[in-house]
This record gives sequence, structure tokens and C-alpha cells, in this order.
Amino acid sequence: MIKAKKSLGQNFLVDTNILQTIVNSININNKTILEIGPGTGNLTNFILNKNPKEVFVIEKDDELATNLRNKFTNKLNIINDDVLNVDESSLFKEKVIVFGNLPYNISTEILSKWIVNLKDDFWFEALILMFQKEVADRIVANFDSSNYGRLSIFANWKLNINKIIDIKPSSFRPIPKIDSSLLFFTPKKNFYGIKNAKNLEKITRIFFNNRRKMLKKPYNQIFNGNLKVLEKLKINLNLRPQNLSSEIYYKLTEEYEKLTS
Ligand code: SAM
Repeated sequence: MIKAKKSLGQNFLVDTNILQTIVNSININNKTILEIGPGTGNLTNFILNKNPKEVFVIEKDDELATNLRNKFTNKLNIINDDVLNVDESSLFKEKVIVFGNLPYNISTEILSKWIVNLKDDFWFEALILMFQKEVADRIVANFDSSNYGRLSIFANWKLNINKIIDIKPSSFRPIPKIDSSLLFFTPKKNFYGIKNAKNLEKITRIFFNNRRKMLKKPYNQIFNGNLKVLEKLKINLNLRPQNLSSEIYYKLTEEYEKLTS
């Protein structure tokens, strides 16, 4: 009997309707699949039943990795490692489909790693990932809404994002205290060519430092009172950070990079 480890965010998905919804969200027949955190293999089983070409899994827990090896013998390529240490882009010869009921404590870190490292020659075709609902709502939020912020802007930089379904705590064992949501991501064909993701992080951090204040102070802090960018992008400094679309933040970052390079 496997005892769930809280430190590794182990809440196993046991609701077969939800497991079916996840694997039905995209056609995986004859595709290469990567599953992050397969745990006891509940989702893995549903994936294998859909005739993928090959399945890779990354599982940090040694006990679970051994258990998966015994359970699925030759059907899986098991990488017993921390997903944050793996360079996924170098593992595959063709584009893969990624599934993950991610550990909540590192879910945004995993997503950020993939976004930062994502080049034009994407290593994945789609990501189907589970997040804590609160986090998912921030990822999909549009401007002019209270959930909109740094995470929405960062995630939308290179990815198209849709919510598939919200999932109740009772679908997991042990039962978590929070609701979850399943998000579907595909890479954007043309994303803004920001040179360094740290600049987008810096600019959004300064703007969203105080959501209630008008844009004037953070704008001047970043651009030293240079009004040219303001005029070019037609930004009204009497607005608040959540009133600017994500495109404006990408353009502001590009302008910042031009001025500081
Ligand atoms: N996919 C399974 C399911 O739906 O039943 C398990 C999901 S559980 C929320 C998260 C899984 O990720 C666990 O199996 C846990 O051991 C694994 N995990 C946690 N941290 C990890 C990391 N840094 N790298 C890889 N796997 C990790």
C-alpha cells in the first residue's frame, strides 16, 4: 500500500470521468506522450489505453517510480528525476503532448521553466495540465479583471490557453482542501520576441507592485520619464496596471530592451 507524501504534493486522481475527460481532450493516437508526476499511474493507464506511440513519464518519488516499473513493465520510459532538472526539449525527436496533474507547490515554476526555455521550434504540441483553481484563474485571466496580473501576462506571452474543466476535491485521494482546474495550452506561432524573460518579469513586477495606483509612477521608474514610448504605445497613465492588455506589456518590454541594450 502506497502512502501519499504531502511534501511531493501527492493527491492522486481517482475520478474515472475526469481521467477520461483529460485523455479525450486531444487525439493521442500514435503520438509521443510525456506525463509529469504519474504517481500511482491512474492517468497513465488511461493514456496507454488510447494507443500512443510512446509514453515517457517523469516521477521524482523513487518508491512510485519502482512501483510504475513493476506495474507497467515495458510500456513506459520512466525518468526517475525532478522535473525541474530535466531538459525536456532534448529528450524527443518529435513534438510531444504533455499531461500533468502537477504538484501544486511547483506547478507555476514548471510552467515558467517551459515558457522561458520555449524557442520557435517548440518541443511540444500541447500541454494539458492541472493547477490549483485559483492559480488557473490567474493564468487564464484577461485584462480589466481582478485575477489578471503577472502570471496571466507571462503565460500568455508564448501560449494560447483554454480552461477545460474545474475539478472538485472529492475527485482526488487523499482529498485536498482546494479546487483544481485543467488547462489546455498550445504554443503561439508568433510570440513577441522579448530577448530576456527577466525583463518582462521586472517590468510587470514594477507595474503590479501596487495594483491600485495609477501607471505614472511605475512608468517613470522604468523609463526615467522618457515620453516617447508612452506616445508610441498610446498609453494613458491615468489607468491602473490591470487595465493594460498583455500585448502592451510585451511591447513595453521590447521598448525597454531597445533602450537598455
Ligand atoms: N498523476 C497522478 C494522478 O493524477 O493520480 C499523481 C499526481 S500528484 C498531484 C503529483 C505527482 O508528481 C506525484 O506522483 C509526485 O510524486 C510527483 N512529483 C512531485 N514533485 C515532483 C517533481 N519535482 N518532479 C517530478 N515529479 C514530481
